[in-house]
Amino acid sequence: KGIVIAIDGPSGSGKSSTARGVARARELRYLDTGAMYRALTWWMLDNGVDVDDAAAVAANVERPVISMGTDPSAPSVTVDGRDVAAEIRGKEVTTSVSAVSAVPEARELLVRTQREVIEAAREESTGIVVEGRDITTVVAPDAPVKLFLTASAEARAQRRSKEVRTVDVAATQADLARRDKLDSSRAHSPLTQTADATELDTTGLTLDEVIALVVKLADE
Ligand code: C5P
Repeated sequence: KGIVIAIDGPSGSGKSSTARGVARARELRYLDTGAMYRALTWWMLDNGVDVDDAAAVAANVERPVISMGTDPSAPSVTVDGRDVAAEIRGKEVTTSVSAVSAVPEARELLVRTQREVIEAAREESTGIVVEGRDITTVVAPDAPVKLFLTASAEARAQRRSKEVRTVDVAATQADLARRDKLDSSRAHSPLTQTADATELDTTGLTLDEVIALVVKLADE
């Protein structure tokens, strides 16, 4: 059966770029679980559901059909057949996603889907790299390779600012800090670093260096 590489870490720690790079290098599948929470949030906003009303979010979680394409060279995300890859990176979704991801019913549903995607990749013997906030702890605690990526708050803000093409690094850093706080303090599967995941501080490293380190770990 294929390998499972689980990667967690806060926003801007380099999880997505690293996970994609490792999946490409090792010809594995790639699953961005944050994109799933973002897609669900996009649907809630598009359908006028108040994301701060946990009961309303819970009542609607089963309605959208969220599909993930797991090719690391062209990952895709659709909601009810519509490509939402660009919209889920927008400000509205980014502001609201932590509220939606704190709703237990939303997590239960998406964790179930994530485990199905992982199982399918293992059955195909291709293996998969999965990244998020609760992959090493909840979604795939038995994964043979578990990593927790970190980076200084400044480095994370610099990287994220480049991604979203803003020069306001201070505002980006404040937004990351806000999301980290919400993601780490929620009652249901908060972002936590466990002892059995290898910590990798990416602050002074290039993306290629981080990818090479993870590939080496996976080969051990
Ligand atoms: O990784 P990304 O920044 O796209 O994740 C967006 C949000 O989705 C996070 O801030 C967090 O609230 C939520 N998330 C989560 N569990 C995961 C992945 C993401 O709660 N496994």
